[in-house]
Amino acid sequence: MTKWVYGFGDGSAEGRADMKNLLGGKGTGLAEMNHLGLPVPPGFTISTEACGYFYAHERSYPAELREQVECALAGIERSLGARFGDPDNPLLVSVRSGARVSMPGMMDTVLNLGLNDRVVEGLARKSGDERFAYDSYRRFIQMYGQVVLGIENHFEELIENHKLDSGVLLDTDLSADDWRILVAGFKDLVAEELGRPFPEDPQEQLWGAIGAVFGSWMNPRAVTYRRLHDIPADWGTAVNVQAMVFGNMGPDCATGVAFTRNPSTGANEFYGEYLVNAQGEDVVAGIRTPQHLTIAGKQANKSVLPAMEEVMPEILAELHAVRQTLEDHYRDMQDIEFTVQRGRLWMLQTRSGKRTAQAALKIAVSLVEEGLLTREQAVRRIDPASLDQLLHPTLDPKAKTAILARGLPASPGAASGEIVFTAEEAESRASRGEAVILVRIETSPEDIHGMHAARGILTTRGGMTSHAAVVARGMGRPCVAGAGDLRVDYAARTITARNIAVKAGEVITIDGSTGEVMLGAVPTIQPELSGDFATLMGWTDTIRRMKVRANAETAADARMARRFGAEGIGLSRTEHMFFQADRIGAMRRVIMAEDETGRRAGLAQLLPMQRDDFAEIFRIMKGFPVTIRLLDPPLHEFLPKTPDEFVEMARLTGKDVDAVRHRALVLHEVNPMLGHRGCRLGITYPEIYEMQAAAIFEAAVLVTKETGGMVAPEIMVPLVATRKEFDILKAIIVRVGKEVMERAGIKVAYLLGTMIELPRAALRAGEIAESAEFFSFGTNDLTQTVFGLSRDDATSFAGAYQRLGIFEHDPFVTLDVDGVGELVRLAAERGRAARPGLKLGICGEHGGDPASVGFCQTVGLDYVSCSPFRVPIARLAAAQAALAGQGRDATV
Ligand code: PEP
Ligand code: MG
Repeated sequence: MTKWVYGFGDGSAEGRADMKNLLGGKGTGLAEMNHLGLPVPPGFTISTEACGYFYAHERSYPAELREQVECALAGIERSLGARFGDPDNPLLVSVRSGARVSMPGMMDTVLNLGLNDRVVEGLARKSGDERFAYDSYRRFIQMYGQVVLGIENHFEELIENHKLDSGVLLDTDLSADDWRILVAGFKDLVAEELGRPFPEDPQEQLWGAIGAVFGSWMNPRAVTYRRLHDIPADWGTAVNVQAMVFGNMGPDCATGVAFTRNPSTGANEFYGEYLVNAQGEDVVAGIRTPQHLTIAGKQANKSVLPAMEEVMPEILAELHAVRQTLEDHYRDMQDIEFTVQRGRLWMLQTRSGKRTAQAALKIAVSLVEEGLLTREQAVRRIDPASLDQLLHPTLDPKAKTAILARGLPASPGAASGEIVFTAEEAESRASRGEAVILVRIETSPEDIHGMHAARGILTTRGGMTSHAAVVARGMGRPCVAGAGDLRVDYAARTITARNIAVKAGEVITIDGSTGEVMLGAVPTIQPELSGDFATLMGWTDTIRRMKVRANAETAADARMARRFGAEGIGLSRTEHMFFQADRIGAMRRVIMAEDETGRRAGLAQLLPMQRDDFAEIFRIMKGFPVTIRLLDPPLHEFLPKTPDEFVEMARLTGKDVDAVRHRALVLHEVNPMLGHRGCRLGITYPEIYEMQAAAIFEAAVLVTKETGGMVAPEIMVPLVATRKEFDILKAIIVRVGKEVMERAGIKVAYLLGTMIELPRAALRAGEIAESAEFFSFGTNDLTQTVFGLSRDDATSFAGAYQRLGIFEHDPFVTLDVDGVGELVRLAAERGRAARPGLKLGICGEHGGDPASVGFCQTVGLDYVSCSPFRVPIARLAAAQAALAGQGRDATV
């Protein structure tokens, strides 16, 4: 018989930490806390496999489930000496989702389940607090009504109207009788909307809630969240049913959330918020302003409300002990939820806490220093893609700023952009390449697509654990949360503070590291890559096998690449050296020339520029290899297009405008990406590659003289399909090299190789390797040609392909291992069979994508090359790939 239900309570549990796939994050956390002897209300977890069954069988349950749930429920009853549905001694439960990975706020929760008209009386008697009982009942009807019965939330309106009628301002001023009246009103509302009464039978309530939690796995916001976070739909969610404990039974009750370390900075300090006399959801909902756990936290956040350390010192001491137990056990920062019921602490959740990249680094490095982790484990802990957050610019401290308001520093990094007020607007404007800041009173899970699209997020309500803060940190978006001085007027599309009104479309800057909101765009500076970042990066360098180089062609990019730790240049696209306004003319002259004489005239202009550029890159790279790729200009990128460009071209060449226009027409190609580009240009116009080879060798000779030999050029021929092409060009390059070196009386060692970016080249890699000394996989063109998919146009339907599951990922971002990868593997094998030790690298965009870097390791590439900003990401990904290759990737 399949086991679908796993019980826990009283210090024992059927689940364990390594059963996350089956029991979800919340379920394993609850089980594990029982094993650790922490106080956890008893309960049970229905497995994710039951969710799988539910969707595979038209939303029905396996036959054994009902009996297993009944049995587990009886276990809770025994543990507490209470009974589900018994008015004299009622047991109430919570029903919550819990997927393998946390999806904050995406799925549904029902609290206080088991209440009905009779049970509520029992709860009132048992608790001695009628008001509490009816407040709990109305919360239950409200949550159940929305989550399970799908009724729109008009409940709050009923409360507001009742308050107006009774002349009170706050919910807390409502009496037991008020809540009793409201409960009746809520039930009427449900009956009216539903056409049948609110379910009184606790069993019916329970199964309704279980179905709603499973059902919420497929709600649109959960689907969007999964798409953004690459979470497969077939993982499913577990359901956790747990005895209720109440944080809202009076002033000796509380509820809170905490991180065992600071989730923003990673500092080793207990960081949390709580509310006295409140129920769990009140903290995250941002309805009341939360208080801090510690006095230090209260002071750091300039709160005037008392800290738990002041109000309930003995509970805080207990929480400190829990914190220590959990950190020692998990060897990681935990995100916990707790409730205090009448002076007694109960733990409701523990999970690995979401954190900023900066905090992740600090925590990993600190845990190594504290002896809780090895360096390898620490390296495995960091998500390579998250490093991107650290590489974001920060505000220039010297810049003048006009501060409009202050909020909480919820997610670091600075961002400027035009104000938008809705997620939809953020998404549509961002898709047009515009920088926007999404401003909301508070965000909700429906907003995540807009949060993702925006450069930054600003909210006026909510704390560090509010939805906006948690989600922004996870996404790496700068976020200022809870800027309470700002007033948002959605109708007028303005934000106002200190009598200054800023309209939609005007630019503001937010600093998610300080919480400041500023008028206008503020200049930024590049990040400092020292401290924990440097420490961890140093560890990655001792672990990884593959080298990491950068794709760069300007001196500035090359310098940046070195700062980020690049060990050479893997691709210098020489045609990109001619994009600047003062150079493109000479380049166009070469391309547009009708004969060799005309081309040579343009080339003569280009040669000194190229030589100087190459020399500068050699100097910066100080002996690290520099792969210079000979010209590969897709013609459409370089031909003049506008009337002004035709006139300028005519002036440069001394021809009339019509002749220039005619020449451009002759050169026009229908498929320029498959056209007269790459080595095809070198074959038909050898003088172009001759000039480039001369420039490379002259620069190498020059810098060899300056430095005594710190130069390692690697000359690369693009878009080769046949060995013959390579051999023809090789003869020219070798000849030019000889001439330059003989003239200079200096020998420079160099390598001569090719890109593998066409399927034919990959297939014929064996014979090409007999002639070429290295391969660099140009997976941009290889993806284009293997799929027969235009690099420039695929975006128009790639999104739809991803949604339909035809593409798991965009193949231009993450290497298609099955197709393109197979050709890479085959070419590597055939190449190395022909030339043992053949140097292999990758220089397509995939060289900076962590998953693709992992693949490169398995194929045995010597290096990956990517844009300078991605170099740290690739260094870390390469280290993780090396650990995985050694079988040392077990989770810790
Ligand atoms: C490639 O095709 O992968 C490559 C690196 O070259 P480019 O992007 O310049 O075509
Ligand atoms: Mg290419």
